[in-house]
Amino acid sequence: ARMVGGESHNEEFKHEVLLRPTDFSEYIGQKKVVQNIDVMVESAKIRNSAMDHALLSGPPGLGKTSLAMIIAKSIGSELHVISGPGIDKKGDLAAILTNLGPRDVLFIDEIHRMNVAVEEILYSAMEDYRLDIVIGQGPSARTMQIQIAPFTLIGATTRSGLLSNPLRDRFMAHLHFDFYNHHELSEIVENNSKKLNITLDKAALYLIAACARGTPRIANRILRRVRDFALVKGESKISEESVKKSLSLMEIDSYGLDRMDRKILQVIEDYYKGGPVGIETLCATLAEDRTTIEDVYEPYLLKEGFLLRTPRGREISQKSKEHLVKMKTDLM
Ligand code: ATP
Repeated sequence: ARMVGGESHNEEFKHEVLLRPTDFSEYIGQKKVVQNIDVMVESAKIRNSAMDHALLSGPPGLGKTSLAMIIAKSIGSELHVISGPGIDKKGDLAAILTNLGPRDVLFIDEIHRMNVAVEEILYSAMEDYRLDIVIGQGPSARTMQIQIAPFTLIGATTRSGLLSNPLRDRFMAHLHFDFYNHHELSEIVENNSKKLNITLDKAALYLIAACARGTPRIANRILRRVRDFALVKGESKISEESVKKSLSLMEIDSYGLDRMDRKILQVIEDYYKGGPVGIETLCATLAEDRTTIEDVYEPYLLKEGFLLRTPRGREISQKSKEHLVKMKTDLM
């Protein structure tokens, strides 16, 4: 919901495609991840074989899908994208695997949410490029083996800790995505403003980067809203003032926190005297799903020191308390 905002999925998708980096030279930041992947891609090319399997973990919107696309393009193979929870029958996954061409890349998003029975098909597929299918039941059951093309599995997850051990162990590389720093986000905003055909002055560009929660997808979303605002106001060059107005319409504050982020902090402050409060209790008070809170909202709040995780539950920091007071005074 955070990413889509008021826009239709279609509109969001169109822009994601337009703004996606198309090769490694356009892919900013995540240096450690890119260095590892670069070696794996080059080695696959020399061996003339499929790249080893890689697990990409980290909060949403940090460029996992984009990287998978660049990998497939560099190897000169096709990319197949599926979502872990979207596959609920073994047969469906078997059909996808048997349709892969040599060296193709299979990208499974939210792989930690895959049904365990379905996931088991992946074990022999990843290890030996073979499917073990059990036909029949009881004493007459037989195992049929089907050979499949050598392929690369790229798993994306917001929580690698939730992956089962047999699946996790079959990935050669475990690569973690970090939030982007201000410099990297500024570069992404600058490149994407060119793709969207808009001109920003430097202060406007830096402000977008500073309020994007370290996340390129959020930077893109702010950029598009700012463009709409400037179009309506008839501005040819977007100023810092326009960005401030757009951010205020989007209810994003100077730390990049949105309404839900502040609500989480405010609930802990008002209902639980600043915490600690158990995650289940907190989610019930917020009437929000635990996974959404843990995967989408918490990582940035924790990283920026607004929220603290203690053995007794979540607590807000002094920085949070001061920020909440400031926000209240600003609104008065
Ligand atoms: P999710 O896990 O939610 O699918 P994701 O991590 O796969 O998200 P992407 O869809 O790859 O994220 O990235 C979202 C957008 O952010 C891209 O369309 C692109 O414009 C931008 N982006 C992400 N990473 C980078 C990067 N390293 N360099 C430049 N642009 C990036």
